[in-house]
Amino acid sequence: RAKTSRRGGYEYFTRSMGVEIRERVMLMHALRAAFEHERLFLVYQPQVDMRTGKALGAEALLRWRTDEGKFVPPDQFIPIAEYSGLIVDIGEWVLRSALHELVALRNMGYTTFQMAINVSQAQFSHPLFMQTLHKALQDTSAPPQFVELEITESMAMKDPDLLIKTLHQIKQLGVSVSIDDFGTGFSSLSHLQKLDVDKLKIDRAFVNDIQQNGSEGSIAKMIVQLGQNLGLSVIAEGVENDMQAKTLMDYGCHMAQGYFYARPLTQQDLHDWLKAGPARPAS
Ligand code: C2E
Ligand code: MG
Ligand code: MG
Ligand code: MG
Repeated sequence: RAKTSRRGGYEYFTRSMGVEIRERVMLMHALRAAFEHERLFLVYQPQVDMRTGKALGAEALLRWRTDEGKFVPPDQFIPIAEYSGLIVDIGEWVLRSALHELVALRNMGYTTFQMAINVSQAQFSHPLFMQTLHKALQDTSAPPQFVELEITESMAMKDPDLLIKTLHQIKQLGVSVSIDDFGTGFSSLSHLQKLDVDKLKIDRAFVNDIQQNGSEGSIAKMIVQLGQNLGLSVIAEGVENDMQAKTLMDYGCHMAQGYFYARPLTQQDLHDWLKAGPARPAS
């Protein structure tokens, strides 16, 4: 009896595993088709100076709408894109599209606008990455000093020497680099000091942790201080309310991105949002 049920459990287990893998393979094929049929697009989430509500720039975020009109969240398809290698082509397209939009915004008069673009491990460690970046900048005529690449802390762990070398080359192009989801990747502080980066992005989990009156000793505060000590700028992601904004400003962090200011916007909505002037300042 025990044997039967164990076998039953085992069968159930393999069957569900099988479904999961099948689903992943299906998703991978669907993603490739979506990319080929231009069903991927970018949205842009404004980054603001919390003191004034003024837009500093935006982060480009990838979206996938299926033929049925459903949205697949990036947390679901980005890992598949990475795992399958599709991210290299998709990432190049993201890069070029975001740079193209940056140039369009500059032509509209937003001449200090910064464009932040996510870059994943597989892209970054690809031997042609620097060439791809260089060519994308050239072809779009995007000014490198208004371009920022977002990398993650975990990438710093994989191949430190390659990372240091690549960061140096990026710097030479005039492009800046931020560490995304900072505080979640367990990179050592001594390591961080060696990396030629410009900015830390406080992960939204730590912004979410900011509670009324309970701000002493919070991780967000420590990250702001760390940034100040290392001479790096700091931006908070996932700012959802006035209290979080105020607390962060008390810490000395003035840049933010979050639903409190703006959600990720389509190209047209971004243009309308910018035209409407400064976002609600946290007063
Ligand atoms: P991320 O780079 O950390 O992007 C920030 C995420 O936080 C975005 O989720 C954004 O919509 C969300 N967010 C911003 N403000 C708030 C807020 O106030 N509250 C809440 N609850 N969420 C907020 P999204 O667009 O779903 O992207 C998820 C992740 O997928 C990104 O995290 C990034 O790691 C990855 N991703 C998105 N686009 C790209 C891309 O073009 N290339 C690569 N390699 N990864 C991308
Ligand atoms: Mg990001
Ligand atoms: Mg982030
Ligand atoms: Mg995040």
